Order: sequence, then structure tokens, then C-alpha cells
Amino acid sequence: MILKKYLINEMKIRTFFILLAISALLSNSLYSMNKITQSCIACTPVRALVAGGQENVFTICQTKLWKYVLNPNQHYLGRGLLVLQRHIPDLEQLTDKEEQEFIQWRRTLTPALKTAFGGRIVNLLYGTNLAFRETPPNPHVHWHFIPRNESKVTFAGQIFHDTEWASVFDLSKKDNMALEIQPFQKAIMATVASYLKKQLQDDKSSLDVEFIIEHYVDDKLNTDKEIECKKD
Ligand SMILES: [Zn+2]
Repeated sequence: MILKKYLINEMKIRTFFILLAISALLSNSLYSMNKITQSCIACTPVRALVAGGQENVFTICQTKLWKYVLNPNQHYLGRGLLVLQRHIPDLEQLTDKEEQEFIQWRRTLTPALKTAFGGRIVNLLYGTNLAFRETPPNPHVHWHFIPRNESKVTFAGQIFHDTEWASVFDLSKKDNMALEIQPFQKAIMATVASYLKKQLQDDKSSLDVEFIIEHYVDDKLNTDKEIECKKD
């Protein structure tokens, strides 16, 4: 009798620990799933802004596979990010379609950014390094497009000086940077959009681009004539 009672108690204790382990595993995996959606700004839907939210105010345009976003740091005038519309950590996991469309974006963005701001070259950077400052790291595939300009440029009331011209870019430079969107950033976005549209037309591109910026940038900004772009 005593042995039977002991065995029953033993089973209860074991069952308790097994259930505890299962619940810990479940909550851990839910935590990681939650962390991915919570901590990845690149995954925030661009429509949040159109619906009156404050997210992704820097998104200029998108296709189903990629979106092009202005970098709030405009030390390099026109600098932006081409962000995959899917949360994967590495280029190796791109589908053939995503890879092929990246080439189309690169062919369109590079000449459009050069023409828009009078730059000589556009540097491309694939990094995701900053994601590894967090534990666990949660990188999201994106490319930096960094127009480089030999001359000092005055644009929408700001002076842009590529002090690293003829050298590698310096991502620690933070002049002309604002996280709360400013009129000069809207003007840059409108200019990028108008030159991208022209490039897509000139190339008879098959990229199906939706211009998000048109939902909130004043129409008057979306013309070349009202934008001052002087070279020193
Ligand atoms: Zn993401």
C-alpha cells in the first residue's frame, strides 16, 4: 500500500516536471516568434503610414518583393535602402525571383540616383552587421544604395558635402540626419520617386512599382522645377 502511494506520487512529480518543460519550450518559441515581429523595423508594413500610423514614413516605393526606403541619415544625399519584403537573414536564401528582381532594381536605381542629384557613382553595400549587436541577432536582408558626389550640393535648403569623396564611405557621419521626418527628407524622397519613374519609363522596365510617397508628400514637391540643386 505504501509502495503504491509512493509510486503514484512519483508519477505525479514526473508528470509535473514534464509539463513544466513543455510549457517552457512553448513559451520560449512563442517569445522568439514574437521577437522577430516586434524587433524588425524592416518588417513593419508600409501601409501603417497610410492608415494614419507613424511607421515607415521613409518608404518611397515598393514591389511585392522589395521596397525602397530613404535612409534618415542623409550625409550622402539620396542615400537609401532596398529592403526585401520577406524576413530572411541571408542573401543565400533569396529565391531566383527575388534575385532577378534585385538586378532590375539595381539597374533602375543606380542611374536614377546619379541623375537626380548629379552624383558620379553609387556605392552599394550589403551589411546587416548592426543586427549582431543584439542577442539573439535578427538580421533582415537589405542593400544600401549610397550616391557619391564630388561637389558640395545645396538641396532643399540643406548643404550636402561628401567629405569622403574618392574614398570609402563613412557610415558614422550623421549631418543631415533626422529620425522625425523633415521637409528636406520629403523633398529628397519626392525627387528620388520622380527620377525613378522616369528611369522605369525610359528602360520600359517590367518592374511593377507602387509609389507609396504619393500618399503623403505634397504634390507641389513632386516636381523637378521647385527643387533647388546647385553645385558649388
Ligand atoms: Zn524583418
